[in-house]
Amino acid sequence: MSTISQPPHAASRSADDATTPVLIRGARPYGDAPTDLLLRAGRIAALGEQAAATATHLAEDGTPALTVEAAGQIALPGLVDLHTHLREPGREDAETVETGSRAAALGGFTAVHAMANSTPAADSAGVVEQVHRLGREAGWTRVQPVGAVTVGLAGERLAELGAMAESSAAVRMFSDDGQCVHDPVLMRRALEYVKAVDGFVAQHAQEPRLTAGAQMHEGAVSAELGMPGWPAVAEESIIARDVLLAEHVGSRLHVCHVSTRGSVEIIRWAKSRGVDVTAEVTPHHLLLTDEQVRSFDPVYKVNPPLRTAEDVEALRAALADGTIDVVGTDHAPHPEQAKECEWVDAAMGMTGLETALPVLIATMIETGLMDWRRLAEVTSERPAQIHRHAHLGRPIAVGETADLVLVDPAERRTVRPGEHATKGRNSPYAGRELPGRVRATFLAGHPVVLDGAPATSRTGRTADRTVAP
Ligand SMILES: [Zn+2]
Repeated sequence: MSTISQPPHAASRSADDATTPVLIRGARPYGDAPTDLLLRAGRIAALGEQAAATATHLAEDGTPALTVEAAGQIALPGLVDLHTHLREPGREDAETVETGSRAAALGGFTAVHAMANSTPAADSAGVVEQVHRLGREAGWTRVQPVGAVTVGLAGERLAELGAMAESSAAVRMFSDDGQCVHDPVLMRRALEYVKAVDGFVAQHAQEPRLTAGAQMHEGAVSAELGMPGWPAVAEESIIARDVLLAEHVGSRLHVCHVSTRGSVEIIRWAKSRGVDVTAEVTPHHLLLTDEQVRSFDPVYKVNPPLRTAEDVEALRAALADGTIDVVGTDHAPHPEQAKECEWVDAAMGMTGLETALPVLIATMIETGLMDWRRLAEVTSERPAQIHRHAHLGRPIAVGETADLVLVDPAERRTVRPGEHATKGRNSPYAGRELPGRVRATFLAGHPVVLDGAPATSRTGRTADRTVAP
């Protein structure tokens, strides 16, 4: 049973029209030639010479624009994450919608999809509406709740998918992420039900019997360390089954956090057959391998586990060539006691929102595997399309929603989890130098991040306190 409490001062200001216009000077959209952008009333109002001219006219009429100097910075569409764990309700010691969505803004994300494994699970209209409302009140990023496939993520009976779809949260993505929907009959029914709401099932592909007690990727390193292994086939067999089920019922399947070379091959095969399947990879599976587990540092314990260098290479190639459609962070904050312990006792998961873009720059841009335009496709355009967000993930063009991120590709920084906005300190990149820094994030034209730090949210919140509206 869930209770929804109304906060005493629910901020409800609709900020689109009230926001001060913003003139961004000298930014490079997708790394192209520098140009000016004018953001006004929630949209990109003008580009190039027209932007500065319009800003001058507005100032003469008594509406001066905020000017953001962006020389050398790349402008990208705001990032859209299909895979975020915000932990609220129930595990506010690990993360809240406010801290998680502020971390998202600092990472350049203007929309995140909150996975359903909260406590209680987001398996009813009441809980998804609560998460949706908390996201709006925070105002740092758009928070779109994901609905559970089964009641309590228990894998026994279907949750009320229709009620969540018809709720004010308008759920379209259903996932038991953290748990695999392993019963093929339930999976088939879920795929059939979501068709009626133009939704899709996002599967956490993990055959439970093949991974009972597993601690890390099954291979040479697990054998050497004497750790129970997690075979690639446990992921691949579920993906193979599910693409065939999706084909059989004519429904949409999304595969969460693909981690093996074999999974890539199955998805490539399914797409060549015309199966309506999309796939996601996390930043950490594009950079880290099971070699990290030799340290026995639980910060590297994650589900699915870190795989081999050969898998990493296949995942990078698949993301570049479109076999894998999107990057999802699988941001999974945990309280310190869940990670500062023996490996076998530690929780699985890593933080990711504030490091995703730097990891992608290191693994995909600096390696020459993709350009900035392709990066915008996999981090913004495709995830928005998969969820059918008509006005998000749009190109940088006049008239489009002013969800934008400015990133300085030249700045290199050492990751210090203690400085992150997320409550989670479980970043696998602590102490590692990564390229690229988010300098500014604009949510419907409102600067939620400026100079690499939180500004004010659309509902007037600052990093430390809530400003009374
Ligand atoms: Zn998962």
